[in-house]
Amino acid sequence: MSWETVVGLEVHVQLRTRTKMFCGCRTTFGDPPNTNVCPTCLGLPGALPVPNAQAVRLGARAALALGCSVRGRSVFARKNYFYPDLPKGYQISQFDQPLAAGGRVALESPERGRIEVGITRLHLEEDAGKLVHDRFPAKTAVDLNRAGIPLAEIVSEPDMRSPAEARAYLVALRQILVYAGVSDCSMEQGSLRVDANISVRRPGESRLGTKTEVKNLNSFANVERALEAERVRQIALLESGERVSQVTLLFNAGSGQVKPLRSKEESHDYRYFPDPDLPPLSLSAEWIADQRAELPELPDARRARLEIAFGIPAYDARVLTSEVALADYFESVAAVGVDPKTAANWVMGDVMSSYNERGTFPVSAERLAGLIALVRDGVLSHQAAKRVYAELATSPGEEPKAVAERLGLVQVSDQGALAGWVDEVLAAHRSEVERYRGGEAKLMGFFVGQVMKRSKGKADPKAVQPVLQEKLLSR
Ligand SMILES: [Zn+2]
Repeated sequence: MSWETVVGLEVHVQLRTRTKMFCGCRTTFGDPPNTNVCPTCLGLPGALPVPNAQAVRLGARAALALGCSVRGRSVFARKNYFYPDLPKGYQISQFDQPLAAGGRVALESPERGRIEVGITRLHLEEDAGKLVHDRFPAKTAVDLNRAGIPLAEIVSEPDMRSPAEARAYLVALRQILVYAGVSDCSMEQGSLRVDANISVRRPGESRLGTKTEVKNLNSFANVERALEAERVRQIALLESGERVSQVTLLFNAGSGQVKPLRSKEESHDYRYFPDPDLPPLSLSAEWIADQRAELPELPDARRARLEIAFGIPAYDARVLTSEVALADYFESVAAVGVDPKTAANWVMGDVMSSYNERGTFPVSAERLAGLIALVRDGVLSHQAAKRVYAELATSPGEEPKAVAERLGLVQVSDQGALAGWVDEVLAAHRSEVERYRGGEAKLMGFFVGQVMKRSKGKADPKAVQPVLQEKLLSR
């Protein structure tokens, strides 16, 4: 019998601020351990937290970008638990009155086409510190630079039905957050971390099965692998007549296995209560409206606009908008008069691979447009243009035409030169000439190929054919 998988994700995103959530310490990644700390984020007695206005603004923008409604009043709460990387003994978070609720993320599911995943809530919280296990032999160190860094926690509805869908959701979510400018979402630097909830049930069942939670996944690929491993584990348990127990799991990327960490806490285990040091967060309707007005164009809107404004296929628009920089570059190429579909092909091909390699665009939009014009005018073959592009990428300043000439790639459509090559080819292949004259018209391709070879690719194939035809028929 088959099983249906149900997945919901909790994503922690580091908000792009210069200072921490409740103090003035810097948020720079990679500083020496315990250098960005103060009495507040160390949790020393008497230190008072003050909310970071920029973090609140970015949190609200993230919420609005996800279609959530931002509440005029939200409350910071203490989430109490004891852990070595949490010197205060509690984390400041939001509980029953979060910053925002009720949004959605649209995405392309590999199995179900276009779907929407609901966002239950978005709340603000501070990060904990970091335990360092590999610094000293047989000792654990703690680095509190991360303690107090502002996070938005984005909780989805259990709307995903497969590990691949969970991954697609993360890709779409990340894209929105990066477009909105609220986070760099760098997984390497830990600014996007995922906890995944998963359960299985029989298809058609409306009640959810018992769920488990896989904690702290640090790459999209690992989210997918961990969920797949956990789905297999749960199904095996149920099919052998056992029960799934509600546990928290860790994923070992090396072995590809999930291991129980502890039995899952319920919210009452944290004894949440409103933080007495922080008044409720109060946001006016006008302020919220301003944040909404300042949102930049988001991925879905841009995708739709590119499709309509430039008449390019939906697939192209999706690839081009996968990153803001890519879409910007495409638009600047189209803006200098290049045919949009041709511009899209170039950007999705050679431009994207050089961008992925270097993180920049080595060839300006104007120079690319110049190169594309050479192909359009028959000066360069498409193949030759790709070589010129690679050369332009490493020689800033040189013009496409000059590079093409330096490399000897300019196509020859000069009749005299073409006639010379054609004569040589016909002289070298007398029997094929006879067969062609005897009615084997398909040999034309062969002759064109031979001329291209003899000219070392420089002959313009469109100009070759009439010359060949004329000479073949005139003898
Ligand atoms: Zn501090």
